[in-house]
Formats: sequence, C-alpha cells, structure tokens
Amino acid sequence: MREWLIVGGGIHGTYLANLLLDQPGLPAENIDIIDPHDHLLEAWDRMTANCGMRYLRSPATHHIDLPILSIYQFAKTPAGRSFAGFIPPYNRPALGLFREHSRHVIARSHLDERHIQGRGLALHRDGPAYVVETTAGDLRTRRVLLAIGMSEQPCWPAWAQDLRRQGASVTHVFDPDFKRDAVAPAGATLVVGGGITAVQTALALAAVPEADVTLVARRPLQESQFDFNPCWIGPKCLRRFYQEDYAARRATIDEVRLPGSLPGEVMQEFQAALDPSHLTFRQAAIQKASYDRDTIRLQTDEGPLIARRIVLATGFRQERPGGRFVDRLIQDFDLPCNPCGYPIVGPDLQWGPNIFVTGPLAELQVGPCARNIVGARNAGRMLLAGLEQKR
Ligand SMILES: Cc1cc2nc3c(=O)[nH]c(=O)nc-3n(C[C@H](O)[C@H](O)[C@H](O)COP(=O)(O)OP(=O)(O)OC[C@H]3O[C@@H](n4cnc5c(N)ncnc54)[C@H](O)[C@@H]3O)c2cc1C
Repeated sequence: MREWLIVGGGIHGTYLANLLLDQPGLPAENIDIIDPHDHLLEAWDRMTANCGMRYLRSPATHHIDLPILSIYQFAKTPAGRSFAGFIPPYNRPALGLFREHSRHVIARSHLDERHIQGRGLALHRDGPAYVVETTAGDLRTRRVLLAIGMSEQPCWPAWAQDLRRQGASVTHVFDPDFKRDAVAPAGATLVVGGGITAVQTALALAAVPEADVTLVARRPLQESQFDFNPCWIGPKCLRRFYQEDYAARRATIDEVRLPGSLPGEVMQEFQAALDPSHLTFRQAAIQKASYDRDTIRLQTDEGPLIARRIVLATGFRQERPGGRFVDRLIQDFDLPCNPCGYPIVGPDLQWGPNIFVTGPLAELQVGPCARNIVGARNAGRMLLAGLEQKR
C-alpha cells in the first residue's frame, strides 16, 4: 500500500510530492499524484500562457524545488541559461525560466513517473487504509493529501452565462479550451476584469495591428506589487492570525488579499499601450447583456457598450474547490468546515484522520498566502512538523 496519494498535480501537489519524496525512508513508490491532465502543472502552464504573462509576480525563491536558490542555480546551467531573466523588485523570474526550471525539477526527481492520470471521485475507509475511487481505478493509500486548487472553477457572471446560452462569442481566459490565438482580431473585443490577468490579456490581444480591445473594469486599476502584503508569509503577521477564531481568520483573508490588483510594470505597460484606436479602458459595472446577430450589447452604469466578442478575465468562483468529490468527503467523514465552507484543519494541516490539505483548502490555517506558490512551501513546513511530532 502506498503511504501518500496526492490529489491534484498543480504547483501545490507537485511541490509537496517533491518534498515528501525527499524524506528519508520513504521510497518513491510510496507516493503518487492523481491528476486528470496529461502532465503535471498543465493547468498552471495553460493559464499563465493564456493571459500572456511574462514574469511571475512572486520572487525567484518561490518555486517547486527544495533548495531556496534553485532557480538562480538553474539559470546558470546550460539548460537554464537561455531562459534566464529576472526583473525587480524582488528578482521575479521570467515565466519561461520558471517553466523550464519546473520541468527540470519534475524530470530530475522523476515526479512524472509518480503521476497517475485520472480524477479522484470518492474516498472509502478499508481498515487502516483509504481506498480512493478514481477514474483510473481504485487506489489504496495510508494518507491522502488534497491539493485541489481553483483552476477548475473560472468565474462566469450570470449575464455572461446568458450570453453564452444565446450563442454569443463569450469565453473565459481560464477555460480549458480557451486559446488566445483563436480570438479573432476583427471587430470590437471587450476584456472584462480589473486584475493582472485581465490587463495582461488585453495587452496580448491588442498586440495585433487590427485589434480593437477595450478593458472593462468595475473599479479603477489598482497597483500593488503582490496580491497580499508579504508580511503574511511569516510570523510578523501570522502570529496574530493564529490567535483569531475561524470567522475572524476568514475576514482577515478576505480583507488582506488583493485579487484585483497588478504590479507596477504591468500597469506602466498598459498605460503606455493605451491608444484610442486599439486599446482603451472603461470603468463600468455591467448590469445587463443582450445578443442579436453577432452583436453583444452591454448595459452598464456608465452607458452602453457594443462588442463582437467578450473575453472574461474575472478570476475564479470563490466557493470551496473540489466540487462533488470534496462535498462527499465532508459528508462521509464528517469533516469540520467554517460557515464560509472552507475546511477547519489542525496546525499539521490534517482535516480528518490521515486526510491532509494544502492550497485554498488549507487557507484558514496557512493564512492569506495559502493559494500562492509560497503557500505550498509553508504548507510543506507545517506538514513535516506535524509528521515529525508524531514520530
Ligand atoms: C495566471 C496566474 C498567475 C499566477 N501567478 C502567480 C505568481 O506569480 N506567484 C504565485 O505565488 N502565485 C501565482 N498564482 C497563484 C497560484 O500560485 C497558482 O494558481 C497555482 O497554480 C495554484 O496551484 P494549485 O496546485 O493550488 O492549484 P491548481 O493549479 O488548480 O492545480 C490543482 C490540480 O488539481 C486537479 N484536480 C482538481 N480536482 C481533482 C480531483 N478530484 N482529482 C484529481 N485532480 C483534481 C486540477 O485539475 C489541477 O490540475 C497565479 C495564478 C494564476 C491563475
């Protein structure tokens, strides 16, 4: 029987597999990752490519390898040199470098050999083991680690769902089948959203000469280097967080996370690219939408908008990720949740007996950085500390 089955092969699942594989006395065959994609990190690769991201928002010390300076070292090797690129502040790596480094780590640690392609459907107890029912068959394991992120739940506002039902050209930049190159340049395109993804997507779509792109955001664009204050990575802010009850922790997370913001260099690039004939910005709240003969009409608090197509960059639905799989787990194992729906877990990230979580599912314990790359690294420390205590 395997020791660990990690459900989800994104940044979190892949980093934690790498970390667990490094623990003494745990042979590689004892850890597997189940994820429906063709390869690990596929959702990350797709989403970051779709929005035209060029540099990460986080520093080069946030990645899926164990040594903190691993990206810098990789950037000096023949394999990494041609991808090397960092921008200030905090030496943020180029997306190409981050991606190549991740591929290198996955190959070096043989993490791809631990990937089982499939989807977790349900969990059953069988003595000291769990049997995870999956689309790839039943998998027995002593421990389960849920590393399910937000990538499967892009946010579609109700008016956009209506338009889609009527046959209008509406896509979401995080939809699995979204292809930026397939967005026709002719006619007006509205990109809806006010964060880094929306701005990068608008910039990328406006890069062709015939483009007519308008970015529509509810609020003025907000500049912030990170999507949360870095004090939330360490004890400076987290000490206070741990003293709060879960309701206050939820309020803190919602207050200090800045999902609709963008770093300075993206803001500057956007402002420099604004051009009345190619790329414009409208601050407007969309109230209603209608569709007739290839024309989308939006009613907003700032007047009407007319377009041929809409690209949503409206982030993710904020509900607990994991869908039916996690709903069933909660029901079958009587797992505790805060009224916001998110798990209440121990300091070792254990939600139920030998059921562990990371990423958004762990955010009431890991804090506001839980969803980010550094959240995986913090979760790893908490997980190992808990295992150490048990020994
Ligand atoms: C465009 C973009 C840019 C970002 N840039 C940064 C950045 O620069 N720095 C930073 O720190 N953070 C960044 N983030 C935030 C965060 O780090 C990423 O979203 C990261 O990919 C989250 O990883 P994850 O593993 O938690 O989730 P996901 O990427 O969602 O991976 C989870 C995986 O689990 C799979 N899964 C779901 N349900 C099941 C199931 N039942 N069975 C099996 N598998 C399942 C999913 O298919 C998916 O492959 C960015 C996010 C986005 C969207």
